[in-house]
Amino acid sequence: MSERLFNFCAGPAALPEAVLQKAQADLLDWHGEGLSVMEMSHRSDEYVGIAEQAEQDLRDLLSIPSNYQVLFLQGGASQQFAQIPLNLLPEGGKADYIDTGIWSAKAIEEAARYGHVNVAASAREFDYFAIPGQNEWQLSDDAAYVHYTPNETIGGLEFGWIPQVGDKPLVADMSSTILSRPLDVSKFGLVYAGAQKNIGPSGLVVVIVRDDLLGNARSSCPTMLDYSVAAKHGSMYNTPPTFAWYLSGLIFQWIKGQGGLEAMERINQSKQRKLYTAIDASGLYTNPINPADRSWMNIPFRLADDRLDKPFLAGAEERGMLNLKGHRSVGGMRASIYNAVPEAAVDALVAYMAEFEKQHG
Ligand SMILES: *Cc1c(COP(=O)(O)O)cnc(C)c1O
Repeated sequence: MSERLFNFCAGPAALPEAVLQKAQADLLDWHGEGLSVMEMSHRSDEYVGIAEQAEQDLRDLLSIPSNYQVLFLQGGASQQFAQIPLNLLPEGGKADYIDTGIWSAKAIEEAARYGHVNVAASAREFDYFAIPGQNEWQLSDDAAYVHYTPNETIGGLEFGWIPQVGDKPLVADMSSTILSRPLDVSKFGLVYAGAQKNIGPSGLVVVIVRDDLLGNARSSCPTMLDYSVAAKHGSMYNTPPTFAWYLSGLIFQWIKGQGGLEAMERINQSKQRKLYTAIDASGLYTNPINPADRSWMNIPFRLADDRLDKPFLAGAEERGMLNLKGHRSVGGMRASIYNAVPEAAVDALVAYMAEFEKQHG
């Protein structure tokens, strides 16, 4: 048995060990069919069964209403930054965007290539340490949709609430928070998430889109980027990322086995509380985010003296804790504690932080 270490990577992120073992057992010979999932035709009965089961399990987990399509696409969340306006924003049209950090800024920059972007609210006024309240938002009457980023993976800023945008479709980049707790999908027009944080391996992006938003892609939209084409072909207009889709299906079954999203919420609640409590109680570590807007999944923190960063990281690695270095744009540390990161990993980190503070604080 190899020794699996605690992986706090922001993405591609930790996967549950039980899922990797299942994939390993299936790898050479899936269910006695004499071939691996990677070697199957995506049109075969076996593979279509795998794909449909994964979609059904995701629908069950999120209670996705029947008037929503679930699409398994490629290009990552970053391609959605273009695909969304190409499908939802008419030529010359306008969309509202909420700026809460690096990922929303990227979405804004890309959408601006396709139409008029109104930045209806920005966390800049709070140095991106807090989310502007809805009463400050300047939504436009003629926006085709409202886009926001419920969890800023780099900044560690997360909405604890769902914006109210009237009859406008609400579009959410849920890459790093989907499946961390229950979600009322009916409040959204479109939800998208790159897989490599909380869904599965990289190479896949999941899009959940309400039926009435399909069929309005611009004539210049590439066929491959038209949601209605993907929906019509069951996300198999061309060859999908078959292995990533299969592995994501194993994750959905694993989450069901853990007790579903209510259970994930309980565990994630406890994990994040332990880590923030340790940070706030210490004299060495700080997290700058307004407590009500703190991310459950991505927890950045700084040491009082950044000359301690290197020894902190080295000591963490010695103790089997990987990828705690913060994003290069923020510095310091970041612990990403997605569903697949066990509570024991957080306990080990908190114990190490206390030990390190005793020596260096
Ligand atoms: C990781 C991430 C992205 C980018 O995802 P890719 O799949 O690499 O394109 C976009 N938005 C958020 C919120 C993310 O966490």
